[in-house]
Amino acid sequence: MRWTLSDIDRKRLTTVHGAEPMRNSCHVFLFVFAVVTYSGAQESTSNPVLHPFTVIRAGAVIDGKSDSVRRNQVIIIRGNRIESISDAGAANVPAGSDVIDLSHATVLPGLIDSHTHIFLQGEDPAQGGYDVNILKYPLALRAARATVSVRRALEQGFTTLRDLETEGAGYGDIGIKQAIEGGYIPGPRLFVSTRAISTTGGYPLEGYAPELDMPTGAQLIDGPVEARKAAREQLSHGADWIKVYMTHRSWVGKSGELVSQPTLTVEELKAIVDETHGWGKKVACHAYGGIGLHRALDGGCDSIEHGLDLDDAAIAQMLKQGTWYCPTISAYYHDWAPADTPEGQRDRKRASVHEVSFPKALHAGVKIVFGTDIGGISWSEPIAQEFPHMVNLGMPPMDAIKSATSLAAEMLDMQGQIGVIAPGAWADIVAVNGDPLADIKVLQNVQFVMKDGKVFKNEIK
Ligand SMILES: [Zn+2]
Repeated sequence: MRWTLSDIDRKRLTTVHGAEPMRNSCHVFLFVFAVVTYSGAQESTSNPVLHPFTVIRAGAVIDGKSDSVRRNQVIIIRGNRIESISDAGAANVPAGSDVIDLSHATVLPGLIDSHTHIFLQGEDPAQGGYDVNILKYPLALRAARATVSVRRALEQGFTTLRDLETEGAGYGDIGIKQAIEGGYIPGPRLFVSTRAISTTGGYPLEGYAPELDMPTGAQLIDGPVEARKAAREQLSHGADWIKVYMTHRSWVGKSGELVSQPTLTVEELKAIVDETHGWGKKVACHAYGGIGLHRALDGGCDSIEHGLDLDDAAIAQMLKQGTWYCPTISAYYHDWAPADTPEGQRDRKRASVHEVSFPKALHAGVKIVFGTDIGGISWSEPIAQEFPHMVNLGMPPMDAIKSATSLAAEMLDMQGQIGVIAPGAWADIVAVNGDPLADIKVLQNVQFVMKDGKVFKNEIK
């Protein structure tokens, strides 16, 4: 049987998430399929069809929503949903259940990284930097590497990613998402934003002869009509979010301040936000500070990405509009240029203003979600390195965990479905040895991962 893309989309919308692996061998998947070896996600200790109940005995549970830790709990999972959570003494364990013993571990909801790039690989200048991705790599190679990226995320307990643009790989994120949902490759639940939008002069590739018509890492628009059209194209191809670059280059100004080049006008952004909200979707805005940041807020963006330099007016407007803040702190401690160069001074300035903005936003009560910009950072590094940055800048460990669970779920309009251990939620569950509230770094060593009711990894001793 041959399926069209819209058939697959309709079928995906009307079937239980991931319940029928290996169906619909469609031509759309071939470029990914050729390079994939898939072994992990289907080697489950519990087959929901044969054994509808799985039981987790948990030594401690941080449920992602409440402020208290519950000891000696029993979580009962039916198929891919959590059925109940209760004290071990009061639990009514169904006969014949698969039992997973995590009684010496801390159990949490699957983690959510709200800012990733599965199509970037750290961009080592010695390996050709950013440009080589677009100039030399076949899309199949980039898809193969993205397949490894999503597996890396799942291995580390990140069962959901909001992936914020493919950096010249077009709609490849839609394909990777379909491959995960179809059961071809293991990976997190993906919320994808496809190509991203910026303006002429607002995104690489740059620095080539002006006579050359170079490809770019984002879709460039000029004017509200083109802006709306780009959003329509991306949404019609399946974008879950729209990503917009509201600032581009940054440098240290004459008074020692961080300056960021603004890109879209308020009118251009408003056209995108209006269109996207009409589809019931949201807009994520990359914005460092200054004019571009204020245009992002005036244009009605739903989340500010990075937000390095938040002034008091911006914080007040974010509170008023309910704007999310995804700070991605880790990314600004990597690959600093030498201190005596303009780039090196900019790199240090970016980190130092961020260290002021984050605590200010935190104490003002801005809604903060965990995000790393990983992909910009190599996927060989731990994603959870962001947690200690947040805690060191004043966020209590429990709030840092909520920023990567229930709060991110709220931003993604998935409250109660993901980011929480509670009846009715999807069975996305992770566990660590140790207490992340005493040492947040233990989250860099997730040893048990269940996604959608299936055990992907269990190294708990
Ligand atoms: Zn990014």
